[in-house]
Amino acid sequence: MPDRTRPPRIVYIAGYGRSGSTLLDMILGQHPAVVSAGEVTTLSRHVWPRREYCSCGKTAPECERWGEIGSTWLARPDDAASLPAYHRLQADVEAIVSPVRLLRRTLFRRAFDRYAARTLSLFDAIRSQSGKDIVIDSSKLPGRALALHATGAVDLRVIHLVRDGRGVAASMLRPYEVDAKAGLQKKLVSKPAFRTAIRWCLVNLAAEMLRRRVGPQHYLQIRYEDFIADPRAGLAAIGELTGLDFAAIADALVRGDAIHPVHQIAGSRLRMTKSIRLERSDDWRTRLSPRQRAHFDLLGGWLLRRYGYPKG
Ligand SMILES: [Zn+2]
Repeated sequence: MPDRTRPPRIVYIAGYGRSGSTLLDMILGQHPAVVSAGEVTTLSRHVWPRREYCSCGKTAPECERWGEIGSTWLARPDDAASLPAYHRLQADVEAIVSPVRLLRRTLFRRAFDRYAARTLSLFDAIRSQSGKDIVIDSSKLPGRALALHATGAVDLRVIHLVRDGRGVAASMLRPYEVDAKAGLQKKLVSKPAFRTAIRWCLVNLAAEMLRRRVGPQHYLQIRYEDFIADPRAGLAAIGELTGLDFAAIADALVRGDAIHPVHQIAGSRLRMTKSIRLERSDDWRTRLSPRQRAHFDLLGGWLLRRYGYPKG
């Protein structure tokens, strides 16, 4: 059972969308001491109110894990405020630039305290239901990690996952229709490469701020491509960050064993697949036109180089 004398240990995956966070969340979730929760921030934002699907194939309120967590969390006396009210607080506190978070000791004190109490009570419900001490939260938003750290009540370990922005841009170009059971809860329109370049830079720079905030020993920057090429080294570094031994999981990945998702909410449609294997994907070279590549390079080339991605 979780040790309630210690603050909850949260392993937070920060970074931009389509960077492999769902896959990493599922891999870390194979460890018996951790509960892999998916994008926890989305539970109140849309997963619970819209009855979206968990990776187990049931809707969140019907799922054996999230049904119990949601009803425990929402039934607590302190949580009398409605879900939409908490959702509004999240929007205020988890934004990249948030006056409520930055000025939390002044006139925003009560709002921030309400956010902190409800958020911590959700993690408490997750730990109680799963019986596990360590929660993987792959919400990605750097602002949420800053907010969790600002509560002063969690033991936060940050994995800043970076993927080549051109791969992200190629993925964002593709539109998707709604297919709730396949994990696509809303229609995704095609996003132009220049837009992705700007946002990819902003979010990654904000995630870099976490290093100073949580301290270098609690922050790990890892490139998705390096992780896929050498999962043993990636998992060893994550093991050092989290105090867990992922060697057996690394062996399984290197052998090519499949990964089975458990109860992830939100995240990419990958989580709805019954089993997955690591695969390298650098098909952006064929999917981005020369013009789109030029747009990305103009706006985000400097950061690509800083992360060590070659011109291409
Ligand atoms: Zn489930």
